[in-house]
Amino acid sequence: RRTARNKDRRVTQANDTPNDLAAFWMPFTDNAYFKAHPRMLVAAEGMHYTAADGHSVLDATGGLWCVNAGHCRPQIVEAIRQTAGRVDFAPTFQLGHPLAFEAASRLAMLMPQGLDKIFFTNSGSESVDTALKIALAYQKARGQAGRTRLIGRERAYHGVNFGGISVGGIVGNRRPYATLLPGVDHLRHTHDPARNAFSRGLPQHGAELADDLERLVALHGAETIAAVIVEPVAGSTGVLIPPVGYLQRLREICTKHDILLIFDEVITAFGRVGKATAAERFGVTPDLITMAKGLTNAAVPMGAVAVSRHVHDTIEGSGPDGIHLFHGYTYSGHPLASAAAIATLDLYVTEGLFEKAIELEDYWADAVHSLKGARHVIDCRNIGLIGGIELEPRPGAPTMRAMDVFRRAFDEGLLIRTTGDIIALSPPLILEKSHIDRIFGKLAEILAAVD
Ligand code: PMP
Repeated sequence: RRTARNKDRRVTQANDTPNDLAAFWMPFTDNAYFKAHPRMLVAAEGMHYTAADGHSVLDATGGLWCVNAGHCRPQIVEAIRQTAGRVDFAPTFQLGHPLAFEAASRLAMLMPQGLDKIFFTNSGSESVDTALKIALAYQKARGQAGRTRLIGRERAYHGVNFGGISVGGIVGNRRPYATLLPGVDHLRHTHDPARNAFSRGLPQHGAELADDLERLVALHGAETIAAVIVEPVAGSTGVLIPPVGYLQRLREICTKHDILLIFDEVITAFGRVGKATAAERFGVTPDLITMAKGLTNAAVPMGAVAVSRHVHDTIEGSGPDGIHLFHGYTYSGHPLASAAAIATLDLYVTEGLFEKAIELEDYWADAVHSLKGARHVIDCRNIGLIGGIELEPRPGAPTMRAMDVFRRAFDEGLLIRTTGDIIALSPPLILEKSHIDRIFGKLAEILAAVD
């Protein structure tokens, strides 16, 4: 019977869709709905996916904010292929392999000055929890063990591990899991449609919200606070762009009270905002930067934390036992991921993709804001090659209007992403103006058609 079932499972329909979808418990998905209406992607190249029925889908979301150099780039594929045949796996505990060191050096060169120590992980969530642990280890190592409090922000997404959901600010991400880190507090988020609707680039109003940190310092005492973590631009919770001066002010307050500042750049790093990092774009240097996604163009899972030399040296210089940061993953600096990272970082430089994002930013911004006045649209926002289009929720059915747009767009050859009633766009940086025209032409058409 088992053999029969297995055989059955191998049978695929003419359109390449497997006929048994039951076993895979899909993340962040209405599993029952998907399995009744599967949308399968079976191939990808450049700006496009191919769906199981053969139709081509223009990727306006860079996979999940991660395929910054476009899909299936031969240089990256080849680097992975060659490495897989040469050194499939090598530990980086007490041993090493050259690719991990090379990937770290290459990545360090893209980071703001001073953030030149790289810890490798396998995902954004792991990068966040790693950064939080490094912050705590640093405070302990410098004799400030009382600084255990972590400060996050409302409406923040920092992945799904326990540290990340504790400092994160999404209720649905927190509520089902009663256990969260103790001693965490949150700044207010900066999204203020009443003052900032239809801002182009950075919104004008809201820098003073950084003063929330002063209030938390007054409430808890700076001597209890280890670190503050924020996304320079929050993506997953709806494209929340920092008001002019906000990040600078946050940096000043952290410096004043000797609190570490962590930028979660899982989506903003690697050209998404036209520079290697949002830190560089906004001229604000944090003490740690978390990354993932675009680091390998998403071809192999990999994350990283860039750490200031001072934080690193303080931890490494502490204690007598030789291992000063008792933390790591079997796959930290995995050879295939390292090879993919090196090839990806090469591509970003040789093709000038960060600069290209800057060059296209005005055209992109015009296109995003062309939807002002379109049916249902209550806000449009943009920075770099990120766009957010907020829809008025359908009465009694929040999120469903955006979901309808998503489904219709997919069927008509355009991949977008929605979060709540917000359409979030983050195309590969290789896109051309003609792609931008198609994305927004199609969206305008669909918005006019959905209820
Ligand atoms: N931090 C931020 C800012 C993110 O946007 C994400 C993912 N969208 C994560 C962390 C989590 O990354 P991952 O899904 O790779 O764990």
